[in-house]
Amino acid sequence: MNNAMAPLPSELSKISSSTLFHGVDLTAIDAELRESENLCLEAGKVLLDPKRHNANIYFVLSGELLICLEPRIANPIIRMGVGDCVGELSVIDASPPSAYVVSATETHLLIIPKPVLWRMLALQPVMALNLLHVLSHRIRENNVVLQGSLELQRAYRNKAETDTLTGLHNRAWFEDVFPRQLEMCERTGQAASLLMLDIDHFKKVNDLYGHQNGDVALRHIGMLLRRNLRSTDLCARYGGEEMIVLMPGSEITHARLTADRLREQIANAALTLDDGREMKLNVSGGLAEWQPGSTLSNLIRLADLALYQAKNGGRNQIAVCTLSKTLED
Ligand code: GH3
Ligand code: MG
Ligand code: MG
Repeated sequence: MNNAMAPLPSELSKISSSTLFHGVDLTAIDAELRESENLCLEAGKVLLDPKRHNANIYFVLSGELLICLEPRIANPIIRMGVGDCVGELSVIDASPPSAYVVSATETHLLIIPKPVLWRMLALQPVMALNLLHVLSHRIRENNVVLQGSLELQRAYRNKAETDTLTGLHNRAWFEDVFPRQLEMCERTGQAASLLMLDIDHFKKVNDLYGHQNGDVALRHIGMLLRRNLRSTDLCARYGGEEMIVLMPGSEITHARLTADRLREQIANAALTLDDGREMKLNVSGGLAEWQPGSTLSNLIRLADLALYQAKNGGRNQIAVCTLSKTLED
């Protein structure tokens, strides 16, 4: 329902206490207010639509409007109540609205057409300042919304990239990040080494202490890796009881020292279980140095070969891949 008439006294008090009309002499823009129409929207009606041009500011006299990214009431990003206005962005930049505006309840609005708004601004320049306040408030509100959605995205990404048992990164993360790190090494001429770690006789650990305590052991190893690696080292659970570590900036001699230190730390950190029993864990590791031009899968294959040597050599040790040439994929 649209009808042109002067705002009622009760509406005038809402208008004068709003940000847009703050300090404005309403009698000086009486004719413009009369030219502005009243609109009553039922609940759930779309007022602004990014696909439709808009040439009005809508001032909320009663009810509530929701700013949504979809043309329905679900998941509003901002709520607009009495004294707020919508549409000012599209009026100023003559572009379509950037979101949907939907009425949450029956909502009464004052429609101020663009030419009428410009006349109001000419008569009461303080309104221009008010409009800037409205816009800066909108920018701040949008930044808060953006921040919230970034945090949510980060949390989802974290969840998708983390192995829930060990707290280490998971395979999806490693498959995404390791090749990019190697590309970076290629560009910067940095060395890199890869370590494959595998818990020794883990099947026996499960058999002896139970699968749940096997999980405790995996968490324990995850914690030791997180605690003892450099922040620049990239570590993930490769699968089962195998972990993979990429050490950018480490040539094989340095990587060997790191791997041996890790192995020793794991061997020395006995784990006391809930039932008081002590569990000792050993790991074997295979190391390979990345060669420029080589692929991640090649590097993994070389580290795997070295791991096989470490197992065959009696376990609880680190073996280095001695192949000077990379294997073909
Ligand atoms: P090796 O020294 O040759 O590596 O012997 P291993 O027993 O560690 O190797 P094997 O590959 O035979 O066994 C790995 C075991 O790891 C078998 C599997 O049940 C166990 N395992 C894999 N993932 C998990 C897990 O998430 N939790 C527990 N508790 N055990 C796991
Ligand atoms: Mg294994
Ligand atoms: Mg094993």
